Amino acid sequence: MAGTVHRLAVLGHPVSHSRSPAMQNAALAALGLGEWEYGAIDIEPGRFEALVRGLPDEGFVGANVTVPHKEAALAVADEASGAAEAIGAANTLVFERGMIRAENTDAPGLLDAIGEFAGELAGRRALALGAGGAGRAVVWALAEAGADVMLWNRTHSRAEELAAELGVEVIPPELHGEVDPGAFDVIVNASAAGLGDGDGLSSLPLDPAGFRPGQTVVDMVYGKGPGTLVEAARRGGAETVDGLEVLVRQGARSLAMWTGREPDLDVMRSAARA
Ligand code: NAP
Repeated sequence: MAGTVHRLAVLGHPVSHSRSPAMQNAALAALGLGEWEYGAIDIEPGRFEALVRGLPDEGFVGANVTVPHKEAALAVADEASGAAEAIGAANTLVFERGMIRAENTDAPGLLDAIGEFAGELAGRRALALGAGGAGRAVVWALAEAGADVMLWNRTHSRAEELAAELGVEVIPPELHGEVDPGAFDVIVNASAAGLGDGDGLSSLPLDPAGFRPGQTVVDMVYGKGPGTLVEAARRGGAETVDGLEVLVRQGARSLAMWTGREPDLDVMRSAARA
């Protein structure tokens, strides 16, 4: 219908720090989709389901979902993709034909961000750091790509639970600072270590001197600049991918689901990094 605004938003708590509105609105504008708009809604956990059920009547066609609502987003949906079901969380909702559909673009977004190397992960050694919502998506994505995945988490019991659920191995808890990063072809930090521009590397089990050329290191956490993990990886000659690139890639997949159009990644990158 002419003049109808197609509304989108990121739902989180807190959410004011999110780069998604700037990134998604820039991509929508570049596609000439002037009748689409993307906002941010701060919603407390107890009110999430009621809010989501009311969104379609307010002109919303979809949403991104971030901490702490990704599991609730899967639970509220009428149908879900296989990835969202297996990961146990959704970061994307699509409202169509009176239904709520849950998707997870965090997992394929991570593989997009890794680039061509993602197609060569079968049989490679991968280390996932973190067993929260992001860790679940990362472990699933790496394992689905055929990598031989090991998992570490600050709270070891959580690592053991997730590893058992997704069929991967765990790093023993006593190896703090002694895990050789050079033993892995790909390392993904999906823990909050480094959030707030702190020294993320010191909270992780890795020997800072062990990074090497030929490996890829991804830090999902993003801040004002590269974190200490990415800095150490670069010093060792590793390829690095930062959290803003992962944000762009998951967001691009979400936008394509809502609009049926492929966004300009450079437009999204510029807006996310502005
Ligand atoms: P979450 O569900 O709250 O889980 C937090 C995880 O971080 C847990 O594994 C927790 O370990 C660990 N952790 C917290 N503080 C730590 C520290 N100081 N040292 C080591 N580990 C620590 O959060 P999430 O959704 O998984 O997100 C994790 C991080 O990924 C966040 O920083 C988020 O911003 C980032 N992220 C980025 C993207 C992106 O697109 N770039 C997407 C999703 C998430 P315990 O189990 O021991 O508490």
